[in-house]
Amino acid sequence: MTKKIAVLPGDGIGPEIVAEALKVLDCLKSEFGLRIETEQALIGGAAYDAKGTPFPAETLALSKESDSILLGAVGGPKWEPLDYSVRPERGLLGMRSELDLFVNLRPAILYPQLEDASTLKPEVVSGLDIMILRELTGGIYFGQPRGRRINGNGEREGFNTLIYSESEIRRIARIGFQIAQKRSNRLCSVDKANVLECTELWREVVIEVGKEYPDVALSHIYVDNAAMQLVRNPKQFDVMLTDNMFGDILSDCAAMLTGSIGMLPSASLDQNGKGMYEPIHGSAPDITGKGIANPIATILSLAMMLRYSFDDGANAVRVEKAVLSALDSGFRTADIYSAGTRRVGTVEMGDAIVAALRTSRQ
Ligand code: NAD
Repeated sequence: MTKKIAVLPGDGIGPEIVAEALKVLDCLKSEFGLRIETEQALIGGAAYDAKGTPFPAETLALSKESDSILLGAVGGPKWEPLDYSVRPERGLLGMRSELDLFVNLRPAILYPQLEDASTLKPEVVSGLDIMILRELTGGIYFGQPRGRRINGNGEREGFNTLIYSESEIRRIARIGFQIAQKRSNRLCSVDKANVLECTELWREVVIEVGKEYPDVALSHIYVDNAAMQLVRNPKQFDVMLTDNMFGDILSDCAAMLTGSIGMLPSASLDQNGKGMYEPIHGSAPDITGKGIANPIATILSLAMMLRYSFDDGANAVRVEKAVLSALDSGFRTADIYSAGTRRVGTVEMGDAIVAALRTSRQ
């Protein structure tokens, strides 16, 4: 049966990198018989400009009726003066909560070809392969009450609420343990249980869920130490489980271990494995329109989609191998460039990956 993908390029470099992932998809269709159709819709600032809202009803409808969603990125300085309720990022948060995409998988893998691109010493990062699970629909990004007000002293104050119910913690913890079972049977839960009651509950519930998975070695770490350890000795981690805000920050930190944020894909899944796939980076306004953005994170997000939503490991591996082959041939976008390699733009990198994919058929 033909599957359908909702394609949401978004803002900034979003359309540039999504175009390259679509070229890869077209190659899978023409060369490997993949049966997938796509339909595009607006999200973020582009949607606000055209429709007055960052998350139009037709985008939600298309996303609901599709089997999966591919997103570029949203946001940019143009929309920063807008009220929070219509900022581009609300489109993304709206999608996550409307589709109940509560678990975000963020692999951080250092490809051997890019050891030089990491700012850390090769012996610290070589062979790095971490999976960060970030809770995506709860916590401080969604908690109520939130807002800004004038306090009793006539001063401006801002406030947000960090809140998790035990069922929200339980469902992501289960997925964390299951993913750990498929890897090295080690799960490290990150919290700030020494200071925040909400994350004290997080730790308590993770320990309870852990009793269902006696084969998985569970450990706990405070988030400040986790940030330090990620830079000091990242290979001590395998699967890391954490809340929305801590996961947001730690996964960007892990991204840099791999050389560039432009390399890292992500999957946001619901209870049934339906997902939205996107690079972990943002819309990169500083390089938008220059043709130099790295499309690999988006292309690897497509590979994750094939694996997690379409159970098509064979085509996922083909795409991942094509990326490695383009890197082996020396192609590098500016963010991962090092002396002795060949600096290319977004389109040339996409072309090199498609060419490698085609060659793999022969
Ligand atoms: P960013 O991830 O857009 O950029 C951070 C740095 O990484 C920039 O120097 C950028 O040039 C570089 N970079 C990012 N992606 C790259 C790529 N593919 N290739 C090469 N270099 C790349 O983060 P930011 O600058 O903090 O945010 C910019 C905008 O993106 C903001 O409006 C923010 O709200 C939004 N944002 C959106 C998402 C999302 O759509 N999921 C995530 C994060 C930030």
